[in-house]
Amino acid sequence: MRASRFFISTLKEAPSDAEIISHKLMLRAGMIKRLGSGIYNYMPMGLRVIRKVEAIVREEMNRAGAVELLMPLVQPAELWQETGRWDKMGPEMMRVKDRHGRDYAIQPTSEEVVTDLVRTEIKSYRQLPVNFYHIQTKFRDERRPRFGLMRGREFTMKDAYSFDRNVEGMQQSYRIMYDAYVRIFNRFGLQFRAVAADNGAIGGSGSHEFHVIADTGEDALVYCPSSDYAANIEAADALPLISMRAPAAQPLVKTPTPEKSKCEDVAALLGLPLTRTVKSIVLAVEKNEGKEIWLLLLRGDHELNEVKAGKVPGLGEYRFASESEIFEWFGTKPGYLGPINTKKPVKIVADRTVANMSDFVCGANEEDFHYTGANWVRDMPEPVVADIRNVVEGDASPDGKGTLAIQRGIEVGHVFQLGDRYSRDMKATYLDEGGKPQLMQMGCYGIGITRILGAAIEQNFDDKGIIWPASIAPFEVVLCPMGYDRNEAVKAEADKLYDGLVANGVDVILDDRGERPGAMFADWELIGVPHRIVIGDRGLKEGALEYQGRRETSPTPVPISQIGEFIR
Ligand code: ATP
Ligand code: MG
Ligand code: MG
Ligand code: MG
Repeated sequence: MRASRFFISTLKEAPSDAEIISHKLMLRAGMIKRLGSGIYNYMPMGLRVIRKVEAIVREEMNRAGAVELLMPLVQPAELWQETGRWDKMGPEMMRVKDRHGRDYAIQPTSEEVVTDLVRTEIKSYRQLPVNFYHIQTKFRDERRPRFGLMRGREFTMKDAYSFDRNVEGMQQSYRIMYDAYVRIFNRFGLQFRAVAADNGAIGGSGSHEFHVIADTGEDALVYCPSSDYAANIEAADALPLISMRAPAAQPLVKTPTPEKSKCEDVAALLGLPLTRTVKSIVLAVEKNEGKEIWLLLLRGDHELNEVKAGKVPGLGEYRFASESEIFEWFGTKPGYLGPINTKKPVKIVADRTVANMSDFVCGANEEDFHYTGANWVRDMPEPVVADIRNVVEGDASPDGKGTLAIQRGIEVGHVFQLGDRYSRDMKATYLDEGGKPQLMQMGCYGIGITRILGAAIEQNFDDKGIIWPASIAPFEVVLCPMGYDRNEAVKAEADKLYDGLVANGVDVILDDRGERPGAMFADWELIGVPHRIVIGDRGLKEGALEYQGRRETSPTPVPISQIGEFIR
């Protein structure tokens, strides 16, 4: 590629709405351009990365015996009704009507469609196992799209679906996909961890998530450095699929609750009691060993009875009709908050309404005590999620093999054992050896193709810009001639080198724009090309070029004949 014929549009400053580094750098490097909330144009530079990510995923899927097909973006509602998910998916699923008034989903995932396909195509045990995958646009009307490609509404996913004769077969297919994922993330050159995960809205039994390790990750992972125990902190309890963002774990502080706010003092308000003196809103009540454990959001600056009357200053009037409405108001659902005094994580989720309130702490009551010091994040606009848990660094690992450590991760892949969750509802059967119909056992396996870009950058950047791992860089090598438009010798050597690299299959870009060196170097450091070769008049007189790896701080003179050794 010649830069003059490509499209390069770098920016000095990132638009102010970009919050995290990967989003900022992708915008500045001209990789993506926002079209609407959670919707992006993939610009030529960004698309090259996406295509490389896809190519690695495709190669490893094929190697693992999965077969590529392509299922439609727009899917008839009837299929989603068969599994009950038309209603269950809620507002995250985008729905459209055609001219006849028929309902459709813009696919957030494809279990229904692939199961429909397989139940009509697969008749006999001889045709199993089979694993179909596609790399397709998804649409999820996320509650809060943010962080660029990290949580888009429109994004690209690789989703694969395996069908087996029995549970053992399904487990084997699952293992094959798990191993393929390990190869994929190794090839991306990213530091990652596979963790036991919660199944969420997909349903089914076992599942693992693959996380790219990064401090900005939305998920907290607990793992044991001296064994292979690793779990998403969500996985210990059936928590909803909500995003979570909290700083490093802090221990909860247990303090005596002020006099009048004992549990007995809590009056019922439309089925949801509020404590009197601590001005708190009860989020959930859990029975634990016969004891009631209260989870509270405590507010410091409003009178309780104002809330009781349904009036919260600065928030307008609000009347809670039911407990579930309160949860709606706080952006979570009832029944998911675990008791505070068990070894299980507890999450409290709040939406914009709450996040905008000042003087806000959250905690939990246990008889005469309440807890403060939960990991509450105030500077996130919304939703804000506090991650209250008793699991802290140094706790004993459940496998008894050491102590637990906690780190944050970005979920980039997810594998599930679904069993007959879908085949039962959709009657996806095959005939076994005895000619008897049997339900197929299913697995599904997702990778967030576009999210990988954001995750890779969160893990690999410096003050100059992105540092792409070579396997997914938009270009592997950039040639920077000093005075391409003025110096014949430089131009001739640059062209020769370029042709030679192209002939050798190197993904190289020649910067023939005639930019000044400072601007040219800044562009390529921002874009994050791993290898840079500078062709200058002075060096050429000695038959040398200058090589600099993206992570290196100074260039190395290299004889022209040896340059190949530096870029592979
Ligand atoms: P999250 O917990 O981040 O909302 P999820 O668990 O809902 O993700 P899955 O249904 O497991 O996502 O989908 C498989 C993969 O698709 C995820 O592991 C993630 O990499 C990617 N993905 C999911 N939602 C998005 C999104 N809004 N934007 C980009 N990638 C996404
Ligand atoms: Mg998830
Ligand atoms: Mg989700
Ligand atoms: Mg998931």
